[in-house]
Amino acid sequence: MQKPSLLFCASEVYPFAKTGGLADVAHSLPRALRSEYDVDVVMPLYSSVKRERFGIQKSYKSISITLNGVSYPIDFYKVTYEETQYLFVYSPLLCDKEFLYGPPSQGYEDNALRFALFCHAIVDLVKENSYTVTHLNDWQTALCALLIKEDKEIKTKTVFTIHNLAYQGIFHHDVLKSIGINERYFTMDALEYYSQVNFMKAGIAFADRITTVSKTYAKEILTPAFGYGLEGFLSHHKAKLTGIVNGIDAEHFSPSEDTFLVTPFHNLTGKLENKKAYLKEAGLQRFKKPLFIFIGRFTYQKGIDLLLDILPSLAMQECNIAILGEGEEKYHTAISTLAKNHKNIHFDFTYNEALSHRMYAAADFLLMPSYFEPCGLNQMIAMKYGALAIVHQVGGLKDTVKNIKQFDKNSQEGFGIPFKPPTSRAFLDASKDALALYKEKKEYNKIVKHNMLCDFSWSKSAALYINLYKNI
Ligand code: ADP
Repeated sequence: MQKPSLLFCASEVYPFAKTGGLADVAHSLPRALRSEYDVDVVMPLYSSVKRERFGIQKSYKSISITLNGVSYPIDFYKVTYEETQYLFVYSPLLCDKEFLYGPPSQGYEDNALRFALFCHAIVDLVKENSYTVTHLNDWQTALCALLIKEDKEIKTKTVFTIHNLAYQGIFHHDVLKSIGINERYFTMDALEYYSQVNFMKAGIAFADRITTVSKTYAKEILTPAFGYGLEGFLSHHKAKLTGIVNGIDAEHFSPSEDTFLVTPFHNLTGKLENKKAYLKEAGLQRFKKPLFIFIGRFTYQKGIDLLLDILPSLAMQECNIAILGEGEEKYHTAISTLAKNHKNIHFDFTYNEALSHRMYAAADFLLMPSYFEPCGLNQMIAMKYGALAIVHQVGGLKDTVKNIKQFDKNSQEGFGIPFKPPTSRAFLDASKDALALYKEKKEYNKIVKHNMLCDFSWSKSAALYINLYKNI
């Protein structure tokens, strides 16, 4: 029997383009859905995507999309990569830029038009291929929900997933005309948001179902503390909303098969080889000291302020600290100043997938003090690679990292050191608990080994998505 079809739409997909967890999810979730759906994945063909390396070819057609009297040429490209078909939308306006969304912590001025164009092109694909389900992700694809609802010929069902409510795609009212959206949608129950246009609202209002990436975040976003102004609107649409926790790709994040590693490993002896190699690479001394790592975007969300607060005290302890990330300039400056004063702090201000894998493989502890975290992938990767996660007990971190005080060897869950509230004091205390635990080698190893055997893959969550699609 022929499988139903699914179009998975995202503004970034690993390994073609990645700035964060959305790309990982857009890579790994569609693969996990393949058993039940014929899945295509669509993303923009940014100029940074390596067309030749992946063998991306121009596909069947080119179209022109006219918005407010202006015609925009669109070319479609495709490639089958690791058994999944990827479709690419190319338009100079959308794709020929240095960054995906804008320079660090800024957005390009024409982002409304860029991603509206992407949405119009997606809808053309949906019409052409009559997908059973169209799965939209974040504000960049949210307008599709409205465009699809508006077109009575399209029968596809839509699911809209919120990966991070902090980014909503908010623009000046004037853009509405230029992006081909009728003024009648400029109302409180549709796109209007404090006199501006909010793309995320289109997904929430018009999709058949809304999901977000953990059960706890699904509850948190209904409150003023986490709702970023949309808590009321989301509460109104609560009946459509569910939380499904993300997984990690079991092949890409598999320490025993990871080709990014010096020595792929499956036990703690193998891990130690990776730690020694990384310390040498980073110029850090003494492998017997615990290694704390932080990997992530340098933004408020990730709790960098808390990290900066505790680094001087933590660095005075017997440990090494390694930081990988990039983002706001003030954080770069603060981290490099601290590293000048402490030989045991190492940093790399870059985005480097291979290096991140080597760091997970080397680390004893992951520091993840995010003020809010819809799901978070780092903590699951860290646990899989034998590092205990020290996390603020919030959102997906709460759902995926259980407290070692309740350690149960028969549980299928990962254990680490959650702390709350999100204060420097609580974070430092948790880090000191980690140092104390590290001295109890037997106890520490027991938990690490347990985590390494846990299943953080998509298997359970993919089944929940399939069930959701089928029940629309
Ligand atoms: P985000 O909020 O950024 O989406 P997630 O925890 O969901 O956070 O996902 C982050 C993903 O990006 C993880 O795979 C993490 O290892 C990776 N990552 C973040 N920053 C970097 C970096 N500077 N270099 C390499 N990988 C990074």
